[in-house]
Amino acid sequence: MTARILDGKSLATTLRAEIAADVAALYQQTGIVPGLGVVLVGDNPASRSYVTAKEKACTAAGIHSTERRLPASASREDILAAVHDLNGQEPIDGILVQLPLPDSAIEREVIEAIDPAKDVDGFHPLNIGRMVLGLPAFVPCTPAGVIEILRRADVPLAGAAVVVIGRSQIVGRPLSILLSQKGVDATVTLCHTQTKNLAQLTREADVIIVAAGRPGTLTADMVRADAVVIDVGVNRVPDSSKASGYRLVGDVDFEALAQKIAAITPVPGGVGPMTIAMLLRNTVNAARRRRGEPA
Ligand code: NAD
Repeated sequence: MTARILDGKSLATTLRAEIAADVAALYQQTGIVPGLGVVLVGDNPASRSYVTAKEKACTAAGIHSTERRLPASASREDILAAVHDLNGQEPIDGILVQLPLPDSAIEREVIEAIDPAKDVDGFHPLNIGRMVLGLPAFVPCTPAGVIEILRRADVPLAGAAVVVIGRSQIVGRPLSILLSQKGVDATVTLCHTQTKNLAQLTREADVIIVAAGRPGTLTADMVRADAVVIDVGVNRVPDSSKASGYRLVGDVDFEALAQKIAAITPVPGGVGPMTIAMLLRNTVNAARRRRGEPA
């Protein structure tokens, strides 16, 4: 059996066209142009390329974007000042601070400084709390993208046994909450490094979502033939055949799994592009809510 490839890149292209049409309609009806402010600290190449991709996607969708770029040596006060400045800018509807920060110890404080009404990454405690309660909130972009892929691929989630591998605050944990909510109705098992018998749990799962940040976390012997696998991982592995010296791989053994299971997302071209599409969607929703338009 050969798995159906869940093409996040083409789905994201469709979504981005829908969002661009929505942005154009918003402008025609109200004159509003949604704005995104990005804070980038230091020169981590992966962060730089993520920010560039997000800004390009904004431009293509008709969303205005502005960047506050700070050196790796920027102080806590400098970073907080950049966030406060964007909080106060009327044309800026969404703010994202690209993580990781060079000093990870201040990440929480910086996230909490973002105006919750502009928190389009959905990392502020107020939005996380609202999400847990099932209230309207900004939902973190990667978990939202995963659910959108599953929905648009018609993967049944109500009553499905879903295993999420990884309990990070930005991917695994919010995903586990969203999947178990009323309306999605999956039965979720959240796994992490202390989980015993991971393979036993994954063998019983209808859907497995892997966000561990380690290549080879899920192998073909750990899944049933009818499983659906969503690979969130993005890992750089050395590859001398590439000009860059590396290639990107996910967290799962893609080749072997694709020979065995029902459906799988590739890396690259799976969850990554969907994360960006969800950021655009959150930014447009922020613009509508902040300006009193129905989101
Ligand atoms: P993280 O390091 O914060 O968390 C990883 C989690 O996985 C931890 O909870 C850990 O307990 C668990 N884990 C690690 N190895 C495990 C194992 N062998 N068995 C069970 N659990 C294990 O990572 P993160 O920020 O959630 O990111 C995870 C991966 O997703 C990374 O590769 C990251 O680059 C990628 N990512 C991709 C996107 C995207 O848009 N595609 C967005 C965010 C993160």
